[in-house]
Amino acid sequence: MKRRDFLITTLLSSGLIITDQLNTQAASIPDFSNSPFTLGVASGDPTADRVIIWTRLAPKPLEGGGMPNIRVPVQWKVAKDATMSEIVRQGTVIATPELGHSVHVDVTQLEANQVYWYQFQVGNYQSAIARTKTLPNPNAAVDEVRFAFASCQDWQNGYYVAHKHLAKEELDFVVFLGDYIYERSGNKNTVRQHQGEDCLTLEDYRNRYGEYKSDPNLQASHHRFPWIMTWDDHEVDNNYANLTAEDAQSLEQFQARRKAAYQAYYEHTPIRVSFQPGKDITLYRSFDLGNLGKLMVLDTRQYRSDQPCGDGAKPRCPEVTSKTATLLGTEQEQWLQSQLSDNSASWNIIAQQVMMAQYNLDPHPQKGMFNMDQWDGYVDCRRRLLNFLHDNEIPNPVVITGDLHSSWVNNLTLDFDDPTSPIVATEFVATSISSGFPQQYVSAVNVARVANPHVKFFEGSKHGYVRCTVTPEYLKSDYRVVSSVVDPQASIDTLQSFVVKNGQPGVLANSKN
Ligand code: FE
Ligand code: CA
Repeated sequence: MKRRDFLITTLLSSGLIITDQLNTQAASIPDFSNSPFTLGVASGDPTADRVIIWTRLAPKPLEGGGMPNIRVPVQWKVAKDATMSEIVRQGTVIATPELGHSVHVDVTQLEANQVYWYQFQVGNYQSAIARTKTLPNPNAAVDEVRFAFASCQDWQNGYYVAHKHLAKEELDFVVFLGDYIYERSGNKNTVRQHQGEDCLTLEDYRNRYGEYKSDPNLQASHHRFPWIMTWDDHEVDNNYANLTAEDAQSLEQFQARRKAAYQAYYEHTPIRVSFQPGKDITLYRSFDLGNLGKLMVLDTRQYRSDQPCGDGAKPRCPEVTSKTATLLGTEQEQWLQSQLSDNSASWNIIAQQVMMAQYNLDPHPQKGMFNMDQWDGYVDCRRRLLNFLHDNEIPNPVVITGDLHSSWVNNLTLDFDDPTSPIVATEFVATSISSGFPQQYVSAVNVARVANPHVKFFEGSKHGYVRCTVTPEYLKSDYRVVSSVVDPQASIDTLQSFVVKNGQPGVLANSKN
């Protein structure tokens, strides 16, 4: 292909003006040795009239991307059909070296509750054609919303067969609850090996995303549905808390590492946030599912106080009940309360990372042992939220959770130590896409079940995702699990299904179907 430079003057045939203040600066198309669309495309953060479409130009995804240090014009189009013949929106966006040649287009003026297809082009190279869907109008009467939620896709530990099957579901969107990548170095004993050492720099994290996003099953899942994403710890560092690292790193070192990790996260996810390099990202946000529900997405990493009692599974130390300990930070906690108050939705779905239910791992209650990285380390913050839900009679709160690499269903009660305490919400914890849950943890949890009667289901050896069907009458969760994470041909099945009925908090039914 002949190299050509040109000035971006007219951006669109549809009349949309892209608000890139640099869009009149020169941009040019380099000579690519192979397709720059090695990481696929993605869409996310759908609303009734918008969706973010994303790609990143990376002909060499494991070597920093392989792009020259120039601005590159990328054409995009959105159509009503899979053959891209009925174009409804199109334009050109500039991919810059500062953002790793990633692009986010917030496609506006779409119709509510509609399927669309989208595609990018640069020079003679075209991306895959991918499907997306807008949400219903905020107050529209909606009969049914279907989504899946997933988390924890340690690429080393297994293949993404769960994504292969997820991509064949009939869903409106996917919610991803964190641990999209794992930051650690290669492990010789796993089915695939990370390239490189622990991620510390922007280039390290970019290459790690390059490795993960090259997986065709993960791409298939993105190509089929819009995703609504949040992060947990491994997008930066295991069990970090705000600016406290897990490893021995100075504050300055960890600040630089977190900035790099946050930027790489932005560069590789279809999220609608205002991003400026070096600045924090406000990731908590909400989505209206017609009159049926509201989905509130939390960030329990960026603002939390340090894990109490030195982290890990410990008996409670005095810090656990500290009034100033927080998992959400003051601003996010106030935002969540206002979101919960300010809506008339039938279902209030809170998407977040770590398990909210209490779990006492020591069956001798006089001592007790709790996972300090979960809400169990932030008891007063949890008490405030559950009391708020109860006191304000928030309709049908349902919490969806990741992080634990195992499947749980919990009734959230006002006082977990009192079996007669009212149930205020239901929590569904999805197992991991591929990350492991050691067998000794399975036994430890099972032994302690007797001391935790609000936990209605636990399974610790299977991997997959949870599929949810929401209707005015009920919310149903299907625990979809694969037969193996190390067999690329593994099958999928429903392990068990659980139902919450409108107006009756807590899990009332469970059945295999
Ligand atoms: Fe994880
Ligand atoms: Ca985690």
